[in-house]
Formats: sequence, structure tokens, C-alpha cells
Amino acid sequence: MPGMLDLPEKPRLLVIGIDGADYRITDGLMRRGRLSNLATLAERGAWGPARSTIPPLTPAAWTTIMTGKNPGKHGVFDFLPMNGDPLDVPVGSRRRATTLWRALSDAGYRVGTFNLPVTYPTEPLSGFQVAGFMAPAFNPAIATPARAFEVLREAGQGYAPFAPPDRTEKLEERQLRDRIDLVPLVSRRLLSAIPCDVFMANFQVVDWVQHSAIASEMKPGDVDSLDPDGLIARTYQLVDDRIGVMLRELASPDTHVMVISDHGTAVVDRVVNLEKLFLDEGLMAYTSASTGGAGAIGAGRRRARASLAAWGVLKRLLPGAAARLRPLAGRVRDRLAEYQDDARVDWSRTAAAPWGLYGQVRFNVRGRDPEGILPAEQLPGLRDRIIELVLRLRDPVTREPIYDEVRDGREVYSGPYVSDGPDLVCVPRDDRYLTISGRMFRGTSLPLLDAQSEIVVPLDKPRDFHSARGIFGMAGPAIEAGVRLPPVDLVDFVPTALYLLNQPIPEDMDGYPVLEGVAAPTRTSRPIRWGEPWPLPEARLAACAYTPEEQRELEEQLVALGYI
Ligand SMILES: [Zn+2]
Repeated sequence: MPGMLDLPEKPRLLVIGIDGADYRITDGLMRRGRLSNLATLAERGAWGPARSTIPPLTPAAWTTIMTGKNPGKHGVFDFLPMNGDPLDVPVGSRRRATTLWRALSDAGYRVGTFNLPVTYPTEPLSGFQVAGFMAPAFNPAIATPARAFEVLREAGQGYAPFAPPDRTEKLEERQLRDRIDLVPLVSRRLLSAIPCDVFMANFQVVDWVQHSAIASEMKPGDVDSLDPDGLIARTYQLVDDRIGVMLRELASPDTHVMVISDHGTAVVDRVVNLEKLFLDEGLMAYTSASTGGAGAIGAGRRRARASLAAWGVLKRLLPGAAARLRPLAGRVRDRLAEYQDDARVDWSRTAAAPWGLYGQVRFNVRGRDPEGILPAEQLPGLRDRIIELVLRLRDPVTREPIYDEVRDGREVYSGPYVSDGPDLVCVPRDDRYLTISGRMFRGTSLPLLDAQSEIVVPLDKPRDFHSARGIFGMAGPAIEAGVRLPPVDLVDFVPTALYLLNQPIPEDMDGYPVLEGVAAPTRTSRPIRWGEPWPLPEARLAACAYTPEEQRELEEQLVALGYI
């Protein structure tokens, strides 16, 4: 009975997100005939790679997808703000630009979103919003209106599509399948309860599986080496299968369908400890506790190192025992916190410090940064010195340079919040290099950065990270069939969605509609209409902060993904 699954009304625009879907992996699996629904969509429409933000991390990338703006205009550069605040203000509260969903709601569309990362706290949309990754645990605050939360409750106890399983447990296909199944299931229930003209849902699972398994299922830099029968390939296939269900149930022949991911994946086999470079060169210093009494540091480091080692051994020996080990995890965390206090940056002796995991560098500027020491006239000299030091770094095995270029933050980003972002971005030559620094989350997984003997360390055991290559596709009445697109920037998503809905595109957008994929009749009859910038959202900073328990919960999620 086909009527049973039919929605009262189907969306005119259906957007499917696949967090972490990598263009090269997707393309390889499509060529092997493993992703029949995405392949059909590509045949029916336009398909190509998406270029992620710098850094290619979920918060910056998804905020760019939903606002059409670069981080200099929306203010989200990374998981953490660079002013040193901890993880207590959700990314959604730090966003300073209007989302497509809000603007379309204001324009009279009924808009619903489901399971999109960094949409917590939720916005009151004309339809509904159910927050995704970075939402705290299951509670009414993750959905608006209340009816949407009811739908989630009815979907059952297992509802947690945004929270990754513990990294210490081996991901099982059953767990993944449950979470993947929830996306079409809950989407249909939400749309049956609250019909929408524009709907976007996201699968989070591909990103988790890649974090968990990419290093064992693919060789560094060699996508063709991906295990065709591994967990990652099977997960892409499961997601593709459920996308097929969504296309059948949620789209009509008049619906425009768009598919997008925020970044791809990569296997890292070199760690670049920029923190050590900066410490060695006297560009930064730790507080007196860690530079003063050598005995005290030694003891702190020894304790932290012993705790970490014991924790690592226990996790390896007792996979699946994560819950029982949790109290111990707390103790390890305390030990690391102790060490971290020991290794706090002494800003009075720090001219510049590396940030995050992608080679970002922040200057400590007088008058701009809380404890800034650097007068403006010294900035050019400092910039030149850091660029020279960074470009000189060589791979210990290949002797190749590690960074292709060091870009100025004002060149990478534009807009009113540029000065909240990195002053320099060291762009690695290859995604096999993971840059590490202490200013990432709380720096808890990265203790002892000053104690390592080398700046660039080849890893015995490769690990996971992100690549900048996501996917972008679209199909529908206005789209040309069989078009292979050049790389699409994430900022192009909003202008393209607006163009397909025949809406004006605010002139302060950073992107442009992907007209290469639009069929000639529409392109000629529908010129791009530029319009006024969208009104800015009200500041929600004060309105929302994670509770300490929520913060702890989120840290556990981030640990599970390997960020901490
Ligand atoms: Zn992501």
C-alpha cells in the first residue's frame, strides 16, 4: 500500500547531509557500484567535490554550510573560541550569522531540520528543529517545538543519533544500523506531524566510523586502498540505502534534492608538534610552575604520563568495559588537569601560540588579546619569522617540506570577526600531517607537548583525521543531468538553495549559486536576484551555556571521537 508511507505534503527542497562523507571514498564506492542511490542521484543531476572550511572541522564547516558565510562573518572558527573560553558555550550560541533555516522561515516557508551538527541551542523555526552533534544528552531542549520532542520520544529509547558510541568499544554494525535507520524513520515521523516545504536531515555515522576505523582500513594518502568489505565501506552503503528510502518517501518529482558533507577523512601518519617549535624558539612560554623547579615538573609529568599509559593499557585490554572504567577515566582526567595547570601558557612571555589541529597560530596582541603583550609595530616582523620557521620544517622521512604555505588570517577569512580567528594558518602539504597544540578543547589529550624530543614525529600506528574534500550533489526539475562539478565551496550551498527556491540571495553571502549544475532553460529564465543582507540574529551568548554535567557528557563524546 504505497499510500501508507505518503506524507500529507512533501518538501520542495530536501537536503541530506552526510557528516564526514569523503569525495574520494564516495567516488570510489560509486564506481564499484556500492552506492546505487547516490550514483543514481549523480546521474540524474550534478555531482562533485565540496571544499571544506579552514580548518575542515565540523563546527566551522557546518556553520558555514547553514549561513553561506565564511568564519570571519559567522565567528565560528573551531570547536573552541580563541579567547580561551572553555567548552561551556555551545557553538550555536557563538554563531553570529543568520541561518538559511531562520531566513526561509521568515520568508514564509515551513522549515524543518533534523540532526544537523551545532544546531544546539535550537532555533524556533516555522516547522521544527532537532539538534544534532554537540547537543547535550537526550532532553526536551534538543528539539523545538515540544511536538517535535514528542516524535523523538515515540521513536524509542534508543534515540541518540548524534552521540557517538564509546571509542573504546568496537563499533558494531548493529549499533550503526540502528542509528542510521533512525534518520529516515524519525524524518518521516517529524514531517508527518509537522509538514515542511524545506527539510534537511543529517547522517552523523560516517564521521564516527571514519574516526574509529579509517586508520586500519586505508593506507595514508591512498584512497584506493580502502578495504571494500570494511566497516567504513559497509557504513557508506547502509547510509546510501537509507538515502534511497528518504528519496522514495520524502521527495516528489518536483522536489529539489541536495546532498552535502562538511569535510572528508584522512589517515594521519605524522604529528607536527608546533607547540614545541614555538617553545623552543622562545615565541611562547609556560607558566613559572613548568619552567621553574625542574623536580616539580618532572614529578607532574611522570604522574600524568603514568596515568595515561595505564589508561591506554586498560582500554586495550578491556575493550567494551568503558562504563566500568569511567571512574578511573575521571582520575586520569584529574591527573591531566593537574599537569595542564602546570603547563599553562604564560601570556606575559608569549608573542604567539599555535591553536587547534590545523596549523592555526594566534598572536598575543596588546589591546586585542586579554593579556596581550605584542605592540602592533612588531607584528610584521613576528609574522615573517614564524613563516620562515614553519616553512623550514621537513618531513623526517621524505625530507619534503611539511607546510606548503603560511596564509594570513585576513586573507583566508573576511568579515567583522576576522580578529577572533587565527592570525596565521599553516597549510599542510598533505593530509597525512596532523598539527597539534595545547589550545584545543582543554588540551587534555595533549599533555607533555614540551617534553617531546622531536617536532615532527612519524606515528608507528597511523590515526584518523579530516580531509578538506566533502561531497556536493543536487538533482531535481531545474538541474541538468549528468553534470560533473568542479569543487564547490561550502559557502555556495546557501546561495544555491536560495536560487533553486527562486529567492533573493543576500549580497553579503560569500558564495555563489552552483549554476554549472542548473539546466539551461532555468538558467536563462531565472537570473540571480541579489537582495538585502538578512537581519542578524540576536546574541544568544548569555542565554545558553552547557551545565557542568552536559559539558562532561560532551567531552566524553569528543574523547570517543578522538579529538581529546
Ligand atoms: Zn563533521
